[in-house]
Amino acid sequence: MSKKIAVLPGDGIGPEITEQCVRVLESLRPEGLALDFEIAAVGGAAYDEAKDPLPQATLSLCEAADAILFGSVGGPQYDSLPRPMRPEQGLLRLRKHFDLFANLRPATVFPELAHASTLKPEIVAGLDLLILRELTSDIYFGQPRGIHRNAQGLREGFDTMRYNEAEISRIAHVGFQTALKRKRRLCSVDKANVLETTQLWRDVVSEIARDYPDVELSHMYVDNAAMQLVRQPKQFDVIVTGNMFGDILSDEASMLTGSIGMLPSASLNDKQFGLYEPIHGSAPDIAGKGLANPLASILSAAMMLRYSLDEAAFADRLEAAVRKVLAGGCRTADIEEPGCKRLGTAAMAEAVIAALHEASSR
Ligand code: NAD
Repeated sequence: MSKKIAVLPGDGIGPEITEQCVRVLESLRPEGLALDFEIAAVGGAAYDEAKDPLPQATLSLCEAADAILFGSVGGPQYDSLPRPMRPEQGLLRLRKHFDLFANLRPATVFPELAHASTLKPEIVAGLDLLILRELTSDIYFGQPRGIHRNAQGLREGFDTMRYNEAEISRIAHVGFQTALKRKRRLCSVDKANVLETTQLWRDVVSEIARDYPDVELSHMYVDNAAMQLVRQPKQFDVIVTGNMFGDILSDEASMLTGSIGMLPSASLNDKQFGLYEPIHGSAPDIAGKGLANPLASILSAAMMLRYSLDEAAFADRLEAAVRKVLAGGCRTADIEEPGCKRLGTAAMAEAVIAALHEASSR
């Protein structure tokens, strides 16, 4: 039976890259990958159509789907809208509606692109780490928060860092299960020497470790983790951490790779339902020019096949095809280098399709 994919292209380069991503997935249909794609508006495009960044019709489509393939949202023309109408609200509301608490961000450095990093190639070549960030709690959501006048009459800002054990436990389970599918090493990042909330984090993660004797668990303070990520990033397999630390560390890790157009992500709930999107934004500076790199979107689709659709063999093939086109010297402008073939968005997708089918005809 066909699986249903809600495709939400969004704004800027979102429609260009998702269109190519869908083409790549469609090319696998004759080989048994049965997916039905339905497109709906989100973000600024949805605001233009329906004055709402997440219209009910889009939400209903997602509810009926097996997974969501998301492009990107945002653009300068929407920056002065009232906050609830802004494009990013479409994404935030989807995360909340589906309780997408587990954000998986792999940071992989394809050997051919090691030079694109600002770090020395020998530090990053072959890097393959995954940051798992809790996405629905922590100081970003804790109450009370606000800005008030204190007893001295000074303005004072305050937020509340808060995690309960159920929230920690469910992300920890995802961390251990993800590590089991990789190199079986999990590093939990906290600030347990200073913050009570993260002492509880460390306690709960350590308790859950007893259920996973095959995973080697370590703990690291966040300041040290930030340093180790640039000193010796290949020491990590899976890092699990809270919302705020994960926000910062995952951006740091993405820059190890030096190529924002290459990095996919997944946001999952406890039923393995997920939203899959590149980590980059809508890139208004290159939108509509056919220059955008579609590989982050295509690699996000590979994660969708693996995590939500139980199609790991197709996911492996898609990732292998991307490796092959890079090894063959194909590059979009963002990862261009002398001596390589420069391709636009559609031509890069065509190269991936060709590599997929060469691989299957062997
Ligand atoms: P951005 O990621 O859109 O772009 C940063 C730089 O990277 C730009 O120079 C852009 O051209 C380049 N770039 C990004 N993706 C690329 C790709 N696939 N191929 C080639 N080059 C690529 O970040 P920004 O400029 O800070 O934000 C632009 C808009 O995107 C803003 O409105 C922002 O709010 C939004 N945004 C959306 C998301 C999302 O949808 N999840 C994430 C981040 C930013």
